[in-house]
Amino acid sequence: MRTRASVLHVDLDAFFAAVEQRDKPSLRGRPVVVGGVGGRGVVATCSYEARAYGVRSAMSTVEARARCPHAAYLSPRFDAYRAASSVVMAVLREVSGLVEQVSIDEAYLDLDVPPEGEPGPPAGGTDPSAAAAWLKAQIHERTELTASVGVGSSKLVAKIASDLEKPDGLVVVAPGTEADVLAPMSIRALPGIGPATQARLESMGIRTVGDLARSDELTLVPLLGRSAGTGLLALANARDDRPVVAERDAKSVSHEQTFATDVTDKRLLRDHLLVMVGKVVRRLVAEKLTARTVVLKTRTHDFATHTRSTTLPHPTDDERLVRRCALTLLDGLDAADGVRLLGVGVAGLSTFAQADLLADIDDADDVTPAVPDAPDADRADDTDPLHDALFGPVPDRQWRPGQDVVHPAYGAGWVWGSGRTVVTVRFEGPATGPGPVRSFALDDPDLRPAEPPPWPR
Ligand SMILES: [Mg+2]
Repeated sequence: MRTRASVLHVDLDAFFAAVEQRDKPSLRGRPVVVGGVGGRGVVATCSYEARAYGVRSAMSTVEARARCPHAAYLSPRFDAYRAASSVVMAVLREVSGLVEQVSIDEAYLDLDVPPEGEPGPPAGGTDPSAAAAWLKAQIHERTELTASVGVGSSKLVAKIASDLEKPDGLVVVAPGTEADVLAPMSIRALPGIGPATQARLESMGIRTVGDLARSDELTLVPLLGRSAGTGLLALANARDDRPVVAERDAKSVSHEQTFATDVTDKRLLRDHLLVMVGKVVRRLVAEKLTARTVVLKTRTHDFATHTRSTTLPHPTDDERLVRRCALTLLDGLDAADGVRLLGVGVAGLSTFAQADLLADIDDADDVTPAVPDAPDADRADDTDPLHDALFGPVPDRQWRPGQDVVHPAYGAGWVWGSGRTVVTVRFEGPATGPGPVRSFALDDPDLRPAEPPPWPR
């Protein structure tokens, strides 16, 4: 165990919704819900204004709409989130040479490891709370987003601390006080305790982390098994020596298969792929790992090897989600000349159990697609493999709420809503004030999908 509070946990506040409010001035200060907008969609993230109405992550969009009908319901724009995330991760690497990104909006860093090529943290050396304050200020200056930062002597304590004063929080847990800080908290604060484990422990009268810390292996091991029982007892006593690990992303779990003859039949490839996905996920689960990146590998008749990948916002071990990512990648593959080898792998592994909100998003959105017999517009700039994996492919010419668009006369804007015959666009961007709303025919050739607004602007 460290004697110094040198582990930081950085967590962006209401990340997807905050990026939407930044890029769409008319939504600032208003409830915003990001997720699957169709009938079976699930909330991925919502703004604090929406939380005031009881909207929560992982809630069905139907229930969210009942609680907060006047919120803006937007499809995710992963390109914009990935861009913001990479700016934030670069800030973190200016402070530490050891940054462990655990999801698109969350990372640990180790202040005992100086940043590469720098004499030391720019925040005046090694003072953890000064470094945390510098990080928060830089993140806000470069992205206009807020982060909550927890500082402690272990990952567990840093993560719990980052949650204590959200949003825009900064909490330092002084070494020696960890167990006291944890004791009054619900056992749900500990990683690995979900509703089922909570119910089992509560049946034994164990409700708080303090209760758990005072119990013993004789009680816990029969209830939870040896490794979970001893592991949780250690965590409850604030004993956590898990290191911050940066090279996790290099590790992967994969499976591949070489065919006797080159395969051109996509359905056959699909069948093989599904079997391999099952094997990969079973290994992940057996090793208690979760993964963020799904990789499809192919070798063609000319022995050239190709890889395509999709990175999820949060780690997962859900076979349905891995399968959907892999199939989306396979869909984009041209097998006409024959595939000699097919492989699927997952990377970006973590050992931390994460609430995997997006994995709960069920099949494709069932927004009624208003599909005109539109000319074959170039769709290449409008598809995102991650969006397709999570929500299913977007039918031709369906405008997603929140999507970035551009019009030659009105400039850049976003899809405010669309119906059977018209699409309504609000023309504004991060650097403008709230902008005007205009409607167009669904197939208006002047209205084009666009990249997210450039950032930093
Ligand atoms: Mg967050």
